[in-house]
Amino acid sequence: MPGEFDLIRHHFTTPTPHTMLGVGDDCALMACTPGHALAVSTDMLVAGRHFILGTDPRRLGHKSAAVNLSDIAAMGATPRWVTLALALPQVDEAWVHAFSAGFRGLLAAHGVDWVGGDTTAGPLTISVTILGEVPPLQALRRTGAVPGDDVWVSGTLGDAALGLQCLLQEGPALTPEARQFCLDRLEAPTPRVALGQALRGLAHAAIDVSDGLLADLGHVLDASGVGATLDFERLPRSAAMRQREASPGADALMLAGGDDYELCFTAAPGSDSRIQQAAAQAGVAVTCIGTITAARERVLRDATGAPMSFAWQGFDHFRPD
Ligand code: ADP
Ligand code: MG
Repeated sequence: MPGEFDLIRHHFTTPTPHTMLGVGDDCALMACTPGHALAVSTDMLVAGRHFILGTDPRRLGHKSAAVNLSDIAAMGATPRWVTLALALPQVDEAWVHAFSAGFRGLLAAHGVDWVGGDTTAGPLTISVTILGEVPPLQALRRTGAVPGDDVWVSGTLGDAALGLQCLLQEGPALTPEARQFCLDRLEAPTPRVALGQALRGLAHAAIDVSDGLLADLGHVLDASGVGATLDFERLPRSAAMRQREASPGADALMLAGGDDYELCFTAAPGSDSRIQQAAAQAGVAVTCIGTITAARERVLRDATGAPMSFAWQGFDHFRPD
């Protein structure tokens, strides 16, 4: 059976063209681009909590990279380097090979070097630290939303949560194509890295939607000291979501479903055409869904303009449901 160092050598050591010293020493050495700040973020994925044991390892590797790239995207930064800390219950080489291929593949597509990590025995846990670069004054912080801003979101909402329902066999059945689309959204999300960078100097504030739209937008509102009015009818829906739209609970999927990894951002009114241009360049649709208000209230309106009551909270690991 391969040991720790065989795993590192065979599965975790990859070319690092943008790095002075990669895997194999006590530390990696990287040089930052002058005039840029480092943007650093860590995300953990724990078996049974963030993913179902038995999840396809290649897709799990992809998702482990994607959730971290998504944080870099939400900051408007350029992703550059990652480290991976991995606890494995046992050495299953086929599993490690597939996981590593999924992880490495998405990183390579974004020009990110895998420069180090740690490998230990333990309950399956994946912890990734990603480092990106951004000119500090152009970073998309949560604090920048101002009254009058439009609220935008990329892609479509709630598909990953719908995918989870499919896996758990809850809710009405979808067509096979719609089911596959939702499973892909759940297990192999697309981080909006190009969009984040295209929004530098354009968006006032941004966050990635990982815990549900209302919860994550709520963090922006808290940080910026403002409120928002959203129009439920304007929320972007996929063809799969449209199949489910009329059934009970579909609104909760779009408003509070986790794992979308879309970007929610605010921008000055009147910047629509520049935003649409940035989104087109980045290859993703964006939709204006509401407005930032000075009054620190959170209003969700239905198609008639009447307020809908919905809790603006998402998933919290330490709060009972
Ligand atoms: P140390 O004992 O100094 O922590 P390790 O023996 O844990 O070093 O790791 C040896 C080298 O292998 C280091 O360069 C480390 O970054 C790298 N490494 C260990 N685990 C991983 C991993 N999961 N992914 C990438 N690199 C790893
Ligand atoms: Mg170590």
